Amino acid sequence: MITSHNIYIHVPFCVSKCRYCAFFSHACSNPDWDGYTKKIVDEIEYFSRKLGKIHIPTIFFGGGTPSLIPSKNFSEIIGAIRKNFDVAPDAEITIEANPGTLDNTRLTEFCTAGVNRLSVGVQSFDDTKLKFLGRIHNAHDAIALIENGLNRGIRVSADFIYGLPGEDVQDIIETCNKINKIGITHCSMYELTIEPNTPFGKMNLDMPSNETMADMYIAIGDNLKLPRYEVSNYALVGHECRHNQNVWDGAPYIGIGDGAAGRIYLNNTWYEELGAGKMFQPMTDKARAIERVITGMRTMRGVHIDDTIKKILNIEFAKTHPDVIMFSNDRIAATNAGILVLDDLIEKLVK
Ligand code: SF4
Repeated sequence: MITSHNIYIHVPFCVSKCRYCAFFSHACSNPDWDGYTKKIVDEIEYFSRKLGKIHIPTIFFGGGTPSLIPSKNFSEIIGAIRKNFDVAPDAEITIEANPGTLDNTRLTEFCTAGVNRLSVGVQSFDDTKLKFLGRIHNAHDAIALIENGLNRGIRVSADFIYGLPGEDVQDIIETCNKINKIGITHCSMYELTIEPNTPFGKMNLDMPSNETMADMYIAIGDNLKLPRYEVSNYALVGHECRHNQNVWDGAPYIGIGDGAAGRIYLNNTWYEELGAGKMFQPMTDKARAIERVITGMRTMRGVHIDDTIKKILNIEFAKTHPDVIMFSNDRIAATNAGILVLDDLIEKLVK
């Protein structure tokens, strides 16, 4: 019986809304931090009553902008998790941080409270592009925050967005070269997608063609010194994000906070956790297996083929398409060519 769950905590507040953002977040200059902390602590206690004092290998604070949390509130949340669960001594504790929201003192306080991994929203090294994206910081702020984390010896990741209007392969090669030079051991490279109901969605942006986007994606793989371990994630071996890797591998996780979802395993049943932890919906084995294929195929190590996966997998298709699928008795994964057509591939793989 699985007793271990990862924890995701959502902090939906931001200084202002970026022009491409469709995440669950809102611009709020003065959130009620004590009220939101109480809500989170209540949910932590709720899950502890429901699941028991289970083992917690990773905690991830995502957003929104979790680096806005006052450190006293952050310590209160971490304290509640430690009190109510069995947090692993080597637990990975990540906080997403936006440059300009985390000074040296506060970063020290977060680290003292247990943070050992910083995920920095850099997005671009070009100040004009940062302004265009609606970011609140410049490239200098971002590099300073990365270096602050690296100098402390904590693990640092950086997020980037590529494929802005007018960008081409040379732009992404320059970004990769800078990442290599700074010496970050993990980064996430996201293609800019235009979502309706965002300011970008209402502008008629002249986006790079699909071919240019694909060439940029290939250029990232060719130029970054970090191996790709998931569709959009790159890391030195041993520096992968354990939290996300666990979730992609199909491990259970508790979602806490407004807008957070989770996958709970309780009494031999998987549940989809909706609406900040208060609604549990049982999942069929089939739905759970399909989900594991969808997330697992995004990773380079792929999906472990167990009995439930066998039931939904089109094995014949997997065996006969070695150009896009690596297939062995107990594992299936996409090749580099397969990653480029992943959505189509998954559709054909699942029966
Ligand atoms: S900081 Fe992140 S979550 Fe907040 S508005 Fe910008 S993209 Fe969205």
